[in-house]
Amino acid sequence: MSNSTSSPQQSRTPVLPAANPPAWLGVMGGGQLGRMFAQAAQSMGYQVAVLEPAAACPAGQVAQRLIEAGYSDAAGLDALAAQCAAVTTEFENVPADSLSRLAQQVFVAPDAHGVSVAQDRIAEKRFFVECAEKSGVLPAPHKTIASEADIDAISDDLLPGILKTVRMGYDGKGQVRVRSREDVRAAYASMNGVTCLLEKMLPLAYEVSVLTARGADGESVVYPIAENVHRDGILFTTTVPGPNVSAESALKAQRAAQAIVAELGYVGVLCIEFFVLTDGTLVVNEMAPRPHNSGHYTMDACVTSQFAQQVRAMAGLPLGDVRQHSPAVMLNILGDVWFEGDSQSAREPAWDQVLALPGACLHLYGKDDPRRARKMGHLTFIAPTLAQAQQQLLAACAILGIAA
Ligand code: ATP
Ligand code: MG
Repeated sequence: MSNSTSSPQQSRTPVLPAANPPAWLGVMGGGQLGRMFAQAAQSMGYQVAVLEPAAACPAGQVAQRLIEAGYSDAAGLDALAAQCAAVTTEFENVPADSLSRLAQQVFVAPDAHGVSVAQDRIAEKRFFVECAEKSGVLPAPHKTIASEADIDAISDDLLPGILKTVRMGYDGKGQVRVRSREDVRAAYASMNGVTCLLEKMLPLAYEVSVLTARGADGESVVYPIAENVHRDGILFTTTVPGPNVSAESALKAQRAAQAIVAELGYVGVLCIEFFVLTDGTLVVNEMAPRPHNSGHYTMDACVTSQFAQQVRAMAGLPLGDVRQHSPAVMLNILGDVWFEGDSQSAREPAWDQVLALPGACLHLYGKDDPRRARKMGHLTFIAPTLAQAQQQLLAACAILGIAA
């Protein structure tokens, strides 16, 4: 499904003349999302500059220019701004001050405001509550924990819960499940004094995410809803259409996502994660101000991939068609598949056998040291029916030694 809404009055960003190819586009961060962004931009004829402190990085291997500098390095930021017609980010923990500095010299999307809300769980939850009337969804009940006194004041109905660090959490890192006030005390003590958020543990039926993109003119699009399965805190599979997702909750989540990006005055691709509870209630979890792992299926199954969409949004071009042309299942490829079972003995995954499966689309990120739990790539299966795609995914799991 695709949707379009217009709310130009909420756009904080001026509409600029489109940056046409072969202009330079810049990206903060050199990880796999920056790499796939660069590949999409280059296929449209743009040139790409990446700012990243690590010389050997997935995006640096493909970009025309790598500015080897820290994310707050003034000279590096100024070099990026001087080269590029527009700059984006591939990770949400980019310092907001760096985006502000860039914005004085070049068009930046998303802007420092959107990114700073998304990178702070307290600001993010407050924002979700503030726009609940427009979005129709609320976050999980929660409380900021910044002192022992805050722990004393926890109301019993927030337990059992999950204590999450306010900043820098990803892939389930910086989270502890807690059953009692004593658990909260111990977990908070283990976080070295950083401010945390206690969230009530909710009875999840399943998890979904909605990918949206919004242009500087206030036009927005929303991709089909994706159903996500996590394993050990890391995204395991994304299935679209989601086998559990009702038409009603899909529409509700898509509308909520579009209301949220409009309220944020956001420009670019943004992904919102939701929980669907056992009683059917939709709860908004968190948002990522960038293309998202659960949107990788769009590369092979949609007319416009999430990375090509980011290019269009930041370059001031019309947003692309979000239509999904094939059912799809995406599997993350972690470093574990380079090891024999639970052992330390290394092996090469049998890509030849995987690629012999119908509908297999392999994406590896150019990382040369596979480590367990490290995202090395992903594999999407597209097929005429979802059942066929799922069947091929099971076959790939068997070949790669992944418990399905
Ligand atoms: P990401 O990799 O998406 O950035 P993250 O580390 O930022 O993850 P969350 O998305 O907040 O953390 O939580 C990770 C997972 O933990 C969720 O996908 C969900 O499975 C589970 N979870 C988080 N919060 C809750 C909650 N309040 N109730 C039940 N389960 C939860
Ligand atoms: Mg998450």
